[in-house]
Amino acid sequence: MKNLENKVVIITGAAMGLGLATAKELASRGANLTLVDYNENSLEEAKKEINSQYPAVKIITVVADVSNEDAVKNYVDETVKAFGRIDGLYNNAGIEGKQAGITEYDVAIFKKVIDINLMGVYYGLRYVIPVMQKQNYGRIVNVASVGGIRGVLNQMPYVASKHAVSGMTKNAALEYGRYGINTNAIAPGAILTPMVAEAFKQVNPADPKAAETEYAQRNPTKRLGLPHEIAKVVAFLLSEDASYVNGQTIAIDGGESNIY
Ligand code: NAD
Repeated sequence: MKNLENKVVIITGAAMGLGLATAKELASRGANLTLVDYNENSLEEAKKEINSQYPAVKIITVVADVSNEDAVKNYVDETVKAFGRIDGLYNNAGIEGKQAGITEYDVAIFKKVIDINLMGVYYGLRYVIPVMQKQNYGRIVNVASVGGIRGVLNQMPYVASKHAVSGMTKNAALEYGRYGINTNAIAPGAILTPMVAEAFKQVNPADPKAAETEYAQRNPTKRLGLPHEIAKVVAFLLSEDASYVNGQTIAIDGGESNIY
């Protein structure tokens, strides 16, 4: 299905995990891509991998830390220089931080999580929206989390930052819907990516696989999600098929967030 043919989409955190899986899905639908990440080596690997599978897709890479405002402005400028427009932004780069209780949480790590997960998403909106406004068209998908719709033990800055992503999504929808810009968020549950593998190592350093199996038992589907199951929803939200969906945070979690 080539329903994103010649659309230009920026993906942050594109070198691995959900960003890379989504980059492949969008490439398969004909989109041209700006891949952004602070991990330069993995970013170049990602570009090679996608281009070997989809040689017709035009890809540029921009090394950037999304918590750095100038670096964000630069990935936007580079995209406009290369492609002349921006149809979509997948505002995905994020980190989990360390797992610790509120009173023990390392304040420097707390601030880092906020800088990347909250400010990084905000800077993306701040610099991409004016380009989309001029076009009278844009599709934005911010990455929240189930931690953006409920609490998660020992992950306070992550939960705070992801609730903020959901809030920023609502405001962007209200303020820019009139310019043909739709802004939504996704709230993935536990999806098997390097970030989640690292979290299971923290929960049970001796046997991360056991922690993963135990965690999956809480889910109605009794399994973790897979990156392509996120990518397909993102591709839908970036497409014309989602033209009247705006300001929503969509859980993609096998139903887990309905349990209490
Ligand atoms: P990951 O760690 O597997 O990949 C994240 C990518 O983002 C990496 O390539 C990393 O280098 C890049 N990145 C991190 N910080 C960056 C920064 N400051 N600037 C530029 N690049 C940066 O993580 P993932 O699981 O793919 O997560 C992607 C997003 O999805 C995150 O926002 C995360 O919070 C969210 N999320 C993931 C899950 C999950 O289960 N995997 C669940 C809910 C939400």
